[in-house]
Amino acid sequence: MTAILGGGISGLSAAFYALENRKLGPLVLLEISDRLGGWMRSVKSKSNAIFEKGPRTVRPLGLAGANTLAMIDELNLADKIIPISSAHSASKNRLIYADNKLHTLPNSLMSLFRVNSPFNRPLFTVIFDDLAAGKGAAGDESLYSFTERRFGKDIADYLISPMMCGICAGDAKKISVNFLFKSLAEMEQKYGSIVKGLWKKRWQEILNSKRKKAPEEKAEMLVGSAAQARRERWAIWGLQGGIQQLPEALEKKLAEGDVQIRLKTQVRSITFKPDFVEVDVSGEIQRFERVISSLAAGELGKLLQEQHPQLARELEAIPTVTVAVINFEFPGKILPMEAFGFLVPPKEKIPILGVIFDSCTFPHRSSTVLTVMMGGAWFDEYFGVNSSREHMESLALEQLRKILGIRVDPSDTHFQILKNCIPQYIVGHEERVKRIRNYISAHKMPLTLCGSSYQGVGLNDVILSAKQAVHDIS
Ligand SMILES: Cc1cc2nc3c(=O)[nH]c(=O)nc-3n(C[C@H](O)[C@H](O)[C@H](O)COP(=O)(O)OP(=O)(O)OC[C@H]3O[C@@H](n4cnc5c(N)ncnc54)[C@H](O)[C@@H]3O)c2cc1C
Repeated sequence: MTAILGGGISGLSAAFYALENRKLGPLVLLEISDRLGGWMRSVKSKSNAIFEKGPRTVRPLGLAGANTLAMIDELNLADKIIPISSAHSASKNRLIYADNKLHTLPNSLMSLFRVNSPFNRPLFTVIFDDLAAGKGAAGDESLYSFTERRFGKDIADYLISPMMCGICAGDAKKISVNFLFKSLAEMEQKYGSIVKGLWKKRWQEILNSKRKKAPEEKAEMLVGSAAQARRERWAIWGLQGGIQQLPEALEKKLAEGDVQIRLKTQVRSITFKPDFVEVDVSGEIQRFERVISSLAAGELGKLLQEQHPQLARELEAIPTVTVAVINFEFPGKILPMEAFGFLVPPKEKIPILGVIFDSCTFPHRSSTVLTVMMGGAWFDEYFGVNSSREHMESLALEQLRKILGIRVDPSDTHFQILKNCIPQYIVGHEERVKRIRNYISAHKMPLTLCGSSYQGVGLNDVILSAKQAVHDIS
């Protein structure tokens, strides 16, 4: 019997892939809350618009993107996909709020040769910065310091820092360069410059006459929705009725496959015995042959503290941030422009991370739906003293009025603080994860890890991590 800890998308995906693996025996999924899906949660506004509390859009590209779409097909959800093409305004228009105004980030080759505020130079000039910058010391460093060193402070402040707020609500000054730019950091070490590295790579591809593509990149290898996504040039996709459709379909599939799903069930400790694993399940000790954990690393660390304090310390050293998510619906179409939304560089010192223009991506009748994200790496700084709903909601509304010129009152609002919702891959993360995996394998622990704490924080990453976890056991 195998225990799967956590009923978020990773735990559900692990159970989904484990259904095909007979070696794992009967499957029991243990979830502390009264619902499945974890951070994936879609609620309806009074007018039936979708308020997403967590993720909302997924990228279709690459191995991980194709893998998620294959799961969508297998769950018969393909007809619910809302594809957003790369020509859509939500794909093309990404905004930054700086110096009291909104700026559109360059979105075409030509725009790289113009001066686009908030930058005071054409962005193609980063090529010269990169060629002039020497090779940095080997080893990990922060994304901010890497981009500042190679491309300039303006790129670190106005491009990379807000991008980190959007991807992981994190501080680029703490996040590892490997989180986003692993291959670029490797190029720097190998060629002394990223431009040279990219050029050498391209030249090699030309010499090899045709670009060597990974199997998942070959259009002819793609099938179903992944092939359609490639053909129709989707940039992102969502689901009719909200992203929660995915965990709901997985739940149905698992129930059909006889997975035992136990809600309101807290895993309190895990003890490894020579031939089995003892799990304290809401106060009752149960035996399993193997455990697949999809819990956040810090949570898992707490469960292992007694027997494996060294491993627990490493797991608990992977930090997380808390994000407040406030969804608003306003009557009428009231946005100044169509776009995915805007992000705020941390140096602006404004108490919001960014705003998503949900109704531009997924229009709903004649209303405007927006999601304001607040806190992240700066949660304590801005809201440590007062994180009440009234305070945060009025701050969010104040910023919407100021930045977007909104005059009307919202017709509906939903507020939630997502505590410790996004792991932070800080400098040294990769080495820490290696130590964690080495410890588990050196101690021959029947414990497999998946989820957002280790190898990627997006939905595609965590679904693939669950597939990999199950694969590693076979
Ligand atoms: C605000 C926000 C916006 C995001 N937007 C996007 C997006 O647009 N696109 C994208 O690709 N990704 C996005 N992400 C990332 C994506 O949502 C996550 O990667 C994913 O949901 C993580 O799923 P998980 O199953 O690994 O973790 P979780 O969802 O955290 O699941 C873990 C589960 O374990 C349970 N649990 C915890 N402790 C115990 C215990 N002791 N016993 C039993 N159960 C326990 C929890 O209740 C939870 O259900 C976003 C994330 C957030 C927070």
